[in-house]
Amino acid sequence: EAKLQRLPKPRPLVGRVALVTGGAGGIGQAIARRLLAEGACVVLLDIDQGALDAVTAELSKAHGRDPVRGVHCDVTREASVVAAFQRAVLEYGGVDILVSNAGIASAASIEDTSLELWNLNQSVLATGYFLVGREAFRLMKAQGRGGSIVMIASKNGMLASPQASAYCAAKAAEIQLSRSFALEGAPLGIRSNVVNPDAVIRGSKIWTGKWSAERAAANKISEQDLEAFYRDRSLLKRSVFPEDIAEAVYFFAAEQLSAKSTGNILNVDAGHLAA
Ligand code: NAD
Repeated sequence: EAKLQRLPKPRPLVGRVALVTGGAGGIGQAIARRLLAEGACVVLLDIDQGALDAVTAELSKAHGRDPVRGVHCDVTREASVVAAFQRAVLEYGGVDILVSNAGIASAASIEDTSLELWNLNQSVLATGYFLVGREAFRLMKAQGRGGSIVMIASKNGMLASPQASAYCAAKAAEIQLSRSFALEGAPLGIRSNVVNPDAVIRGSKIWTGKWSAERAAANKISEQDLEAFYRDRSLLKRSVFPEDIAEAVYFFAAEQLSAKSTGNILNVDAGHLAA
């Protein structure tokens, strides 16, 4: 028995290939780390070449170069998405897990929301999630071995926040998109699920770049008070970290854990949406 306990834990994602969009960002890199730790090969897609190089180098240092690739991609451009999937196939022979996560943040009242800002949110979030999702769906269908699609939407796809109409509407679109993928994917063994983060905290800042200052302003508090603000309004009185989102993604990614879950939504919000 003592000997058995010393055997290494099996890693459920060995032999699986995961593609993570927005992989150079705060949540994306935490997801990549989690999937790598469970044995997956991970292709990071991002539009920010500098951040992509830095994160790819860091992950390669921790896990070796073999299971990590960084591929420049703009998820709003069809040709760029198609090329990124071709690259993943070239490098690893296919894709089993898609994590659609690339995003932007913005804040503006409805009256101040320009058509450009509205279209930007739709194109990166709704359209971007559609383009990478469709490419993954086509490839998974051709491979004939099912697959798992995980869309990182947001609490804002369910509840609105002040001064975020374009973002909230696009996040709601991602949730319905995932359900549509679940319907058409089911006969093919392709599952599609959503993870909804509430505000994700690192230190005293909400992770997403500009979001932090603008969210503080929209809630009429200072940036240093954001962590306490979000923690205190949650049921569990706990902050949500990028690693918490990564854990939920891992659950949906691993067939062994979530084979019976599709069309689902997992809110990682410390209970905020229940109240
Ligand atoms: P982040 O800004 O740290 O990362 C987002 C990444 O997406 C960046 O690396 C950026 O370069 C990339 N990206 C942007 N536009 C792109 C494009 N056109 N093509 C390819 N890549 C592009 O933000 P994050 O907090 O890690 O957010 C990840 C996801 O989580 C987003 O979809 C966001 O809406 C969602 N989310 C975040 C929070 C939060 O509090 N941070 C809360 C709820 C939902």
